Amino acid sequence: MPSAPIYLSPPDVGPAEEVAVLRALRSGWATPFGPEVDAFEQEVSQRVGVPYALALNSGTAALHLGLLCCGVRPADVVLVPTVTFVATANAVLYSGATPVFVDCDPATGNVDVELLGEVVADLRRAGRRIGAVMPVDMFGSCVDYDPLLALCREAELPVVEDSAEALGSTYRGRHAGSFGDAGVFSFSHNKMITTTGGGMLLSHDADLIARARHRANQARIPAQHHEHDQMGFNYRLSNVLAAIGRAQLSRLDEMTARRRRLREHYSKLFASVDGVEVLAENDPGSNCWLTVIVVDPQLTGWHAADLARHLAQADIETRPAWKPMHRQPLFAAAEARLTGAADQLFARGLTLPSGSSLDERQIDRLTGEIHGFVDQHA
Ligand SMILES: *Cc1c(COP(=O)(O)O)cnc(C)c1O
Repeated sequence: MPSAPIYLSPPDVGPAEEVAVLRALRSGWATPFGPEVDAFEQEVSQRVGVPYALALNSGTAALHLGLLCCGVRPADVVLVPTVTFVATANAVLYSGATPVFVDCDPATGNVDVELLGEVVADLRRAGRRIGAVMPVDMFGSCVDYDPLLALCREAELPVVEDSAEALGSTYRGRHAGSFGDAGVFSFSHNKMITTTGGGMLLSHDADLIARARHRANQARIPAQHHEHDQMGFNYRLSNVLAAIGRAQLSRLDEMTARRRRLREHYSKLFASVDGVEVLAENDPGSNCWLTVIVVDPQLTGWHAADLARHLAQADIETRPAWKPMHRQPLFAAAEARLTGAADQLFARGLTLPSGSSLDERQIDRLTGEIHGFVDQHA
């Protein structure tokens, strides 16, 4: 009997989520607001240690509102790491501003903070208005926030933290999502927890979240009739999906532990293979969302893509690390400050199955396939 495919990061849902959906439906709140939404906001807010939170129908919506409510305007530039998912940069486009891309630290894939400082100085010298800086906590590893926040405070730049991948991660004892003027989580199907699609915007600033809440609900003013004072958006999260989110959040620690065990498993597996490193391996605060290996073909004698092909034949899904934004057709004409690190990570990186729902049998099969490939090439 052929075995079932192994996916990169499939949703991990079960009885707790079923119970939650029924509870929400039977309560009558099949609505984009309601008690499950309120409770989900409170629970995430408490978990992350940020007092105000707004549940939304995607992480991308949260990024968009975060930028708008931090005062980003058309004609601004916004600094975005070139290694990220396109949503970060698309949110900048939605706001009418222009992204300027910055290369990464090769050890983590996160933005190169020193280079970011140079770009800020150069843009300022050229008289450009920088609307915001968007650090992205890549693959669940926090950006080096001490220098980044010092830099942004000094330059008086708002920070919108894209923590879509980093729920549960920490940096020096503080939670991902708590570092910026606004922080963003995604609850897309492949993230740490899922609502099948959803996101959240968090802030230490009550007024910022109030303004974002207004915009997310078509900028509707309380009145008997429909009255609107701004361009608004239909960005609210369904109460039924918020219930799924609460069940998922209650399982976050357990699910994170399973991803961490997988990361440790990969670390051991590749420890003896010269030329293979696990990205951000030494970050104790990572939630281990996805494990990325970086393959130096000069030392291994094989490329990341060769392993990917081998695993694909065994119905095991892998993916290259994010294709840098400066290589996307969408951003062919965009400004970018590059060192070559992002290009190298794209050429050499491979994202391995990292889901919290992988069972022992799947992990054994995966391990066998990787051993087989490595031995064959030794
Ligand atoms: C997933 C992701 C997003 C977008 O989240 P959605 O909920 O899918 O809109 C944004 N940024 C990064 C870095 C992501 O990985």
